[in-house]
Amino acid sequence: MADFVSEKLAVLGGRPAFAKPRHVGMPNIPNREILHARLDEILASRRLANDGPYVRRFEAQLADMTGAPHAVAMCSAMVAMQVLFRALELAGEVITPSFTFIATAHAAAWERLQPVFIDVDPDTHMISPDRIGATLTARTQAIVGVHLWGSTCDVDALQAIADKARIPLILDAAHAFGCTSRGRLIGALKAVSVLSFHATKVVQSLEGGAVLTGDGDLAAKLRLMRNFGFQGYERVGCLGTNAKLNEVSATFGIGCIEEFESFVAVNRRNLEQYQSSLMNIPGLRFYRRDPTEKSNCQYVILDIDPVSCPLMRDELVDPLHAENIFARKYFSPGCHRQSPYQDVVLSECPTHREPTGGAIDGAAHGNGGFG
Ligand SMILES: *Cc1c(COP(=O)(O)O)cnc(C)c1O
Repeated sequence: MADFVSEKLAVLGGRPAFAKPRHVGMPNIPNREILHARLDEILASRRLANDGPYVRRFEAQLADMTGAPHAVAMCSAMVAMQVLFRALELAGEVITPSFTFIATAHAAAWERLQPVFIDVDPDTHMISPDRIGATLTARTQAIVGVHLWGSTCDVDALQAIADKARIPLILDAAHAFGCTSRGRLIGALKAVSVLSFHATKVVQSLEGGAVLTGDGDLAAKLRLMRNFGFQGYERVGCLGTNAKLNEVSATFGIGCIEEFESFVAVNRRNLEQYQSSLMNIPGLRFYRRDPTEKSNCQYVILDIDPVSCPLMRDELVDPLHAENIFARKYFSPGCHRQSPYQDVVLSECPTHREPTGGAIDGAAHGNGGFG
């Protein structure tokens, strides 16, 4: 509960409801004793990087937890996507939603691929396969779908479009660790998925990412590319980069996976508490997750209805910030409105409207208004 409930809103000069800032996405910290013991072991072994035993263990756990035949750990999701685009030898355009974290577009653009933005479904917040239509051309090299808020996008519809066009489907699964699509774990899908273990994600390794794939040859190529292309002590087999995950990061990831169920339970409890407390406020609509799918329950998402809510999204966020509740406007402005992409036309869509979603809490440690 709030440390202090002021008579007067902080924005009007009252005392803030919380003495300290409450941020979205406070990190999940796994068991410290175990973490310290593992760090001691790493320091004693002097094996800090380069495909060490903890990275291998983390990859095995990732494969196991996501149903993926192969999991290749990397230093971040954005770099993992870049290496993946290189490994697939893509050159041209990729179709991707505009309503995503900027890294999805950046990873493509950094590899000199042109992102072609598609609008999202206002209910799911995720890429709407129906809207791909004429944006799919001979220049299209891949479809990059994005899962959001612990839910999965319409993978089957996207895969059917990709198969027909004979191009790969890639899924930005930064939000979807432990989630399912029509009952299937994300690593067991035909599409290649990219995970993020940034500090704000449910499973975090300080910084980190991974590619999940059923294609053994692709996995082998990614392993070469993430380590400068080294095929042995001396031989360099291909152009590579440094996208390796380190051993210390891997221990955080391993610890988070070991405690994953309890992190999700805390997320779920927070979500239910927000829902029951805010349910009857006019104009606020909670994001609906499909109850038949597994979700990590990351992020508490509210849509603000501009008609029935007395305050607009931006009018709500400022007073919350004044109370030290750092609710965020996700993803605002959309990628297509950020300067590197402003000239990129959002695919023609007469019903386009700005998504109005906002996240109020992202972490399992109760950092929101109910801390
Ligand atoms: C966090 C995030 C990324 C980037 O992950 P990094 O590991 O920080 O590079 C990409 N896409 C989405 C949807 C994200 O939320």
